[in-house]
Amino acid sequence: MVVEAMAGTIEGAAGTRGPVDLFIIGGGINGCGIARDAAGRGLSVRLAEQGDLAQATSSSSTKLFHGGLRYLEFFEFRLVREALQERETLLKMMPHISWPMRFVLPYHADMRFESETPTSKLLSLFMPWMKGRRPAWLIRLGLFLYDNLGGRDLLPGTRTLDLTRDPAGKPLREKFAKAYEYSDCWVQDSRLVVLNARDAQARGADIRVGTKVISAERREGIWHIVTEGPEGRADHHARALVNAGGPWVEEVLRNRVHVNSTEGVRLVRGSHIVTPKLYDHDRCYFFQGEDGRIIFAIPYEQEFTLIGTTDADHQGAPGDPVCTPEEEQYLCDFASNYFAKPVSRGDIVWTYSGVRPLYNDGASSATAATRDYVLSLDTNGAPLLNVFGGKITTYRRLAESAMAKLAPHFDGLSGPWTAGTTLAGGGFKPADLRRVIEDLARDYPFLTPSWAERMIRHYGLESRDILGAARSVEDLGQAFGATLYEAEVRWLMEREWARGVKDVIWRRTKLGLRMTSEEIAALEAFMAQVQQG
Ligand SMILES: Cc1cc2nc3c(=O)[nH]c(=O)nc-3n(C[C@H](O)[C@H](O)[C@H](O)COP(=O)(O)OP(=O)(O)OC[C@H]3O[C@@H](n4cnc5c(N)ncnc54)[C@H](O)[C@@H]3O)c2cc1C
Repeated sequence: MVVEAMAGTIEGAAGTRGPVDLFIIGGGINGCGIARDAAGRGLSVRLAEQGDLAQATSSSSTKLFHGGLRYLEFFEFRLVREALQERETLLKMMPHISWPMRFVLPYHADMRFESETPTSKLLSLFMPWMKGRRPAWLIRLGLFLYDNLGGRDLLPGTRTLDLTRDPAGKPLREKFAKAYEYSDCWVQDSRLVVLNARDAQARGADIRVGTKVISAERREGIWHIVTEGPEGRADHHARALVNAGGPWVEEVLRNRVHVNSTEGVRLVRGSHIVTPKLYDHDRCYFFQGEDGRIIFAIPYEQEFTLIGTTDADHQGAPGDPVCTPEEEQYLCDFASNYFAKPVSRGDIVWTYSGVRPLYNDGASSATAATRDYVLSLDTNGAPLLNVFGGKITTYRRLAESAMAKLAPHFDGLSGPWTAGTTLAGGGFKPADLRRVIEDLARDYPFLTPSWAERMIRHYGLESRDILGAARSVEDLGQAFGATLYEAEVRWLMEREWARGVKDVIWRRTKLGLRMTSEEIAALEAFMAQVQQG
């Protein structure tokens, strides 16, 4: 119910004048994951996102559901175990937007540890003659742990490759004769966020995009929150507040909620470059550097290769991180140490950059700062839960932990439920992905094989809702290039909160990689026209 008030509008839970149970600041993966979990337990939930869903860190990741092999070197066993366990749970929940990948880790004796890792310190103590090099037996031990720490059902284990014979050796320099191959998973990160928001909405949550939280204060045992959004300024009341502001978590704490806290966030920028496809197979590479860092090279959007990431303390505002020329060069040089054909800045077709909102634990280097999440509950009045750090991979577990922290404040709250409940479009088994793509291509013969694959890997079974009764491309309405048609755009606007062109071409899809500036301008004009009604 919306009640007119002097400052604008006062809004309580749907259909009541009272407060909502939970107000969430931030529509990244953590805010949307918590919204879904809470709504499914029967809480009334409202979420405010200042821009588009997943507009910040949650669309700028390396897009892996992974345990984080290198975090083993930092002895982050809890985090790695939880993340490894999650991979298969998540695969089953969303077999359309996530899928298994094999990672090829070429071995060479010159690879070194970062000198700060606990493993490297131990090794220097007991095997000083190694001079910081990573011995092969240690990598194999790490992979043994990786295979077994979290348990596996769907994902195959590690094997050793002879790169002189395996096709994975073909694009690499000759000095790489041996590699290890292990499993992790891919995820379409921004689609994951939107699908969580949609599921939360389907369970009663009120999701508001383009809505910034200006202030929040405790009065008479509840939160009074002011937002600025498309409907103007509005007041909201809530029993509990969740600060899932990602890189803004500290800003929200200090400037919106005005809470004095010693807790902070360390902003660590990670940038990626995208080039046309650098090799012809579907496996990824895990490259180790002589500086102790690692990067990935990953098949991307069918025709491209994604290379990243960097790791640098971010000094600017959290809002608009960019991949600097130095970072571009660093990634090209790193990859060129491995690929026989050097990668140069001229090969780059797109870059993106994100800021990791890591809990400030005083770690000495950006690479060494903990990747684990920290949830801090402030009960100095109505509860405030602050979310620091986290990974895409552990978002569901993070949401469960958030609910466990909040449970004492909500009588009779039900238990965890999200594992095993599929996201929209994901109602099939991971092993059936190929068949689902083929079925779509058969039923809509005008789709090219790569278009059918794109549809399923973005929308899964919901592709059929978008394509509807179409018998030819003409039935899909205006064409915007790169297989994007009016039917898909309208669906994204009606069902997935897409408002601007970037929401469609860089987050709900990655078609911006293939569209010309004229096509993008036509899409922009079309969306503006739809919005004007
Ligand atoms: C380069 C890089 C690579 C990564 N790779 C991986 C990976 O491969 N696998 C993995 O598991 N994890 C990865 N991560 C980590 C993962 O991406 C993040 O942990 C996760 O996306 C953080 O999500 P979040 O919801 O906390 O933050 P965000 O996604 O940043 O969301 C916070 C949201 O809060 C909103 N907000 C802030 N202030 C306000 C306000 N006042 N009012 C309303 N809204 C507000 C922002 O607009 C933003 O959208 C990577 C991170 C980076 C940077």
